[in-house]
Amino acid sequence: MAGENTTGGERRYAGIAAAPGVVTGGVWIYGRSEVAISAREISPEQVEPEVARLEEALITARQQLMEIQKKVSRDMGDGNAAVFDAHLLVLDDPSLIEETVRRIRDERHSAEFAFDAVASQFVKSLAELQDEYMRERAADIQDVAQRVLRCLTGHSVADLKTIGEPSIVLAYDLAPADTACIDKTKVIGFCTEIGSKTSHTAIMARALGIPAVVGLRDAIEQTQEGDFALLDGYGGFLIVNPSEQTLFEYGQLEQRRHSIEASFARLRDEPSVTADGHRVALEANIEMPEDVASVLANGADGVGLFRTEYLFINRDDLPSEEEQYAAYAEVARRLAPRPVVIRTFDLGGDKFLSALQVAKEMNPFLGWRAIRFCLERRDVFRAQLRAIARASADGNVRLMYPMISGVEELRQANLELAAAQAELAAEGLAFNTEMTVGAMIEVPSAAMTADILARECGFFSVGTNDLIQYSLAVDRVNERIAHLYQPTHPAILRLLQGVVRVAEERGIPTAVCGEMAGDAALIPLLIGLGIRELSASPPMLPSLKRLIRGVNRDAAREMAARALEMTDAAEIRAMSAAMATAAAPEVMELAGA
Ligand code: PEP
Ligand code: MG
Repeated sequence: MAGENTTGGERRYAGIAAAPGVVTGGVWIYGRSEVAISAREISPEQVEPEVARLEEALITARQQLMEIQKKVSRDMGDGNAAVFDAHLLVLDDPSLIEETVRRIRDERHSAEFAFDAVASQFVKSLAELQDEYMRERAADIQDVAQRVLRCLTGHSVADLKTIGEPSIVLAYDLAPADTACIDKTKVIGFCTEIGSKTSHTAIMARALGIPAVVGLRDAIEQTQEGDFALLDGYGGFLIVNPSEQTLFEYGQLEQRRHSIEASFARLRDEPSVTADGHRVALEANIEMPEDVASVLANGADGVGLFRTEYLFINRDDLPSEEEQYAAYAEVARRLAPRPVVIRTFDLGGDKFLSALQVAKEMNPFLGWRAIRFCLERRDVFRAQLRAIARASADGNVRLMYPMISGVEELRQANLELAAAQAELAAEGLAFNTEMTVGAMIEVPSAAMTADILARECGFFSVGTNDLIQYSLAVDRVNERIAHLYQPTHPAILRLLQGVVRVAEERGIPTAVCGEMAGDAALIPLLIGLGIRELSASPPMLPSLKRLIRGVNRDAAREMAARALEMTDAAEIRAMSAAMATAAAPEVMELAGA
């Protein structure tokens, strides 16, 4: 999958296409930039305060290291924490510190300039030795020196917010917390060495509408900051120093894509119905109230998934009920009368919790996340339920619980909701007493007991991202096993069929809000399996609508029935893709099929 191919000065890295689009620009490498120190002389009166500043920075660096060591030891064991002993020893190294103080006093250099010069000299002389141990010590000193310099200069770790020129960001990994603060005018595209199509980082890229490629192994090592590159989010390539020929070919492709997209835009206000007149609601997945503009611009029938946990990311405190209410009510009002499905917090997994100090887990996707977390942290859950219930008075709000694994969780969550609503009633606050409540089907046990769950909720929404990960035991963010992550695996088809069937018997609708719903090749299969609601990232909706309008539902049903008899995931995918191509060839051309 990942690999490198060189022609002339051009270097081509192949990864996994995560968000469509093609951009060219300079590469900005995330997480590798060092603090730049310039020479600064100080006056005689500044000497002692400067020495004190150095001592303070050394103490802060020590505290930070001890904090990290404690955390690593708690989460990963003492063995892994031992490396920090070596780092702590650097901070105590008398020759390093004495020489720095001497330079401050005798040569009147600023603390950072003196420390940087001395540490660099140490690193250089150790790195030149043949001895492996000494070279490791050089790396320790370099790490610690960067930490001390950050303390002295107030620089935090390289931050996406500090990008000056619009650039293509290249990182080993980007956490959802990083992508959440991306400024689209500065980050024109991004690529990471690890990750997969359904990692939340990739999902965010699609929502932002910026091209992204993940799983580009080893690209950072061979790329320099500022290198000119082309990022192809359709094909999944990072091309460093693209040749004239490559740029020309991509230019031609871009023109073609623009004209196809312009043709989709004309369908914006047309209904999402199959060629034989059956309605398939097309809704949007959003993360923030700001996404509503894109929901409307792309002609969505509503919001099928509002991932509220993004209100939690990149902040030091929990959002209050009022703050949450304001966010939910704004979305509900702006989209009324269209439905807005608000999902309660799905924290954990690969979604970072900055406000709540939760210990790192060995298997975070199987750990204390989503509804499990909410049912324990009732204070957090209650505030959110109150906020959602209040917003139900402002528009067509529906509530949905993530990661339901059995009916007991659903019952407990509903009891908590009833208690929240009773409180609101007692306080005289408005809410819709008829608000529909649904369950996500994303854990195999929920899919297998959907008949039980269907009796106690108003709709299902299938989270295929997790359902596939859990059913096939394939980590959704691990690029090494991305080839095993198969939405058309017979097991997934059977689960989907079973869920739709019991939901129909019970008279409740089943939506799909995982990334499978945004995969054009799979739309005929989902329609054929009986799915009547799809929810995907807003920029994908115009092409999905075009596709739905070209699909014949009865033919899709027959195709899905055949698919259920088949054994090979790739063949099933190809069959659905062939139907998609016949229905809307330009959609599949755009998807790069
Ligand atoms: C899913 O699992 O498919 C889903 C929609 O939820 P998330 O991607 O937020 O885990
Ligand atoms: Mg999920």
